[in-house]
Amino acid sequence: WFVTVEGGEGAGKSTLTERLQQELESLGYDVMLTREPGGIDIAEQIRSVILDPVNTAMDRRTEALLYAAARRQHLVEKVLPALKQGQIVLCDRFIDSSLAYQGHARGLGMEAVYEINRFATEGSMPQLTLYMDVEPQIGLDRVYANQQREINRLDLEKLAFHEKVREGYLMLAHKFSERIVTIDANREPEAIYQDCLKTLLDRVGQ
Ligand code: C5P
Repeated sequence: WFVTVEGGEGAGKSTLTERLQQELESLGYDVMLTREPGGIDIAEQIRSVILDPVNTAMDRRTEALLYAAARRQHLVEKVLPALKQGQIVLCDRFIDSSLAYQGHARGLGMEAVYEINRFATEGSMPQLTLYMDVEPQIGLDRVYANQQREINRLDLEKLAFHEKVREGYLMLAHKFSERIVTIDANREPEAIYQDCLKTLLDRVGQ
């Protein structure tokens, strides 16, 4: 199973995915948790270029291509081998992030961004995507309240940008309703976690 977790800033993806991995493993599933952009050396290096606050001149097409490049490397080096071994791959962000952020919010167009990603992934898609839907203001407040997390270039975008990202995700969730399950992530972490766990077990246990 290839499962991705998506969402805007402060949606709580990292804590959530760690808990899900632990619980699934205690139930006897073999789970590999990973994240994008990053997950392996080459992709982590690309991530640091994209997210470096110094790189304010980053062109949006350059940005989209770098995400696709990082995705490609991570997919072939880590995700596909794990799937081949029968592991459940739980991936924090994947193609939907590019469609929502670069395609919709940055205005490149979802189709154009999908094209470069199709080249990068050769059509590999998750079977299930948990979309953590959070009101952008609530999400940003969480990011700033969390002292542990490094604030990156994208966190500094205006609220309107994050509203656009959410709009993009909601469009995707509507269009791919079979694959994408929307979770109300404005709630307490425990409620969000329980919903995600149930959704996952319903699908993966089949
Ligand atoms: O998943 P995480 O929150 O660590 O993502 C790192 C940053 O990369 C976030 O600020 C997110 O907004 C940004 N990002 C992006 N476009 C993507 C994927 C992530 O702008 N396609």
